[in-house]
Amino acid sequence: MNLLTSHTLEERLETIESLSGQFKDRAAENDEKGRFPFENIEDLKRIKYTLLTAPKEYGGEEISLHEFVRLQEAIAIGDGSTALSIGWHMGLIMHLAETRPWDPKLFEFICKEVTKGALLNTCATEAQTGSPTRGGKPTTIAQKSGDTWIINGRKTFSTMSPALDFFVVTATIDETGEVGSFLIPRETKGLSVIETWDSIALRATGSHDVVLDRVEIPFEYMTEMMSANKKRPAGYLLHIPACYLGIAEAAKREAESFAKNYTPNSLNHPISELPTIRQKFGEIELKLMQSRHFLYSVAKMWDGGSEQERQLLGPELGAAKLTVTNQAIEVVDLAMRIVGARSLSQKSPLQRYYRDVRAGLHNPPMDDVTIMQLAFRGQAPFMR
Ligand SMILES: Cc1cc2nc3c(=O)[nH]c(=O)nc-3n(C[C@H](O)[C@H](O)[C@H](O)COP(=O)(O)OP(=O)(O)OC[C@H]3O[C@@H](n4cnc5c(N)ncnc54)[C@H](O)[C@@H]3O)c2cc1C
Repeated sequence: MNLLTSHTLEERLETIESLSGQFKDRAAENDEKGRFPFENIEDLKRIKYTLLTAPKEYGGEEISLHEFVRLQEAIAIGDGSTALSIGWHMGLIMHLAETRPWDPKLFEFICKEVTKGALLNTCATEAQTGSPTRGGKPTTIAQKSGDTWIINGRKTFSTMSPALDFFVVTATIDETGEVGSFLIPRETKGLSVIETWDSIALRATGSHDVVLDRVEIPFEYMTEMMSANKKRPAGYLLHIPACYLGIAEAAKREAESFAKNYTPNSLNHPISELPTIRQKFGEIELKLMQSRHFLYSVAKMWDGGSEQERQLLGPELGAAKLTVTNQAIEVVDLAMRIVGARSLSQKSPLQRYYRDVRAGLHNPPMDDVTIMQLAFRGQAPFMR
């Protein structure tokens, strides 16, 4: 099946859902071993998923943000690590296609690489900066040297590093102190991935450190100045809540299957018929429903918005992320209460969902930033 030749969201969802079942089968082992899910990524490349957000002029499909989050959620039902990993690639391409901040020739080059299966992600975080969204300046340094850039530094949390073909790295330009982003092909001398990812959440994302030791790239691989696009809200980041919503849905399904099949000898029916269990499933359903309505409607607002309207959507995007990721944590908690102590077994996927879903709190935007943004927005009309 090739997703470029399926024309409706339903057709694409059907294909992704069948793959996602296979991702689920592989998830426990990849999690236990902290192994990157290479097979899942190859499966997604085979069906051309990795091209869907690229512009049509370069062989992509330019899918909407709404479709993107729906497909990402379906991937995450099978495996959160796969969803977050591929989500960064898909989202970056969507963002570049919408805003075109790169030199057209360089963008055309990267799109052509993507049609051949290349993967890319942004490596912006460093131990010294913490979350780059808080304004920390990279200690990774880019120096001009003739018609090349020489880059030195170390990035942390570089998701999908085992499979990336291009690393889009932020660095401070030595000469001016400005922050730029730089395209570094994987095979560049001096670039190495150091396997440091020891997180208990999303263990299969391969979010290792990337070390840049006198990495030399052509001058035109300086892709953009970060200050230029700083203020624009980033719709594509909704792939993040979509991932955690998918994990929550997987937890619900696991609890449902357990509750239907577990009949302790104190009862003559499965626990699914108990009012207390039904109550919890009702609460889960309410949270999932609220999350879906919020996430999908903000994605559709983005899709239907003019450039000017999109500029105003930052608070909605942040609020959707905050709501969905926090509700996902609550859903996993409720699912575990339904299953009881067995949910803590190493063999139960629920213990993995419990760990994985926490990661959402530490993906951008962070909750406190969103709340302050909302406070400011709430105040504005009364101040006038
Ligand atoms: C699974 C996963 C995948 C990721 N993938 C990527 C990726 O592909 N590429 C990438 O670049 N990054 C990635 N990240 C990194 C992510 O974007 C964050 O940079 C990272 O999680 C660190 O965030 P933090 O809030 O813990 O760090 P910090 O910013 O260091 O925050 C730690 C604590 O200090 C507080 N704090 C720090 N600075 C301030 C401040 N200025 N004002 C107020 N409070 C402050 C925070 O509130 C928080 O409580 C990933 C993270 C995870 C968990």
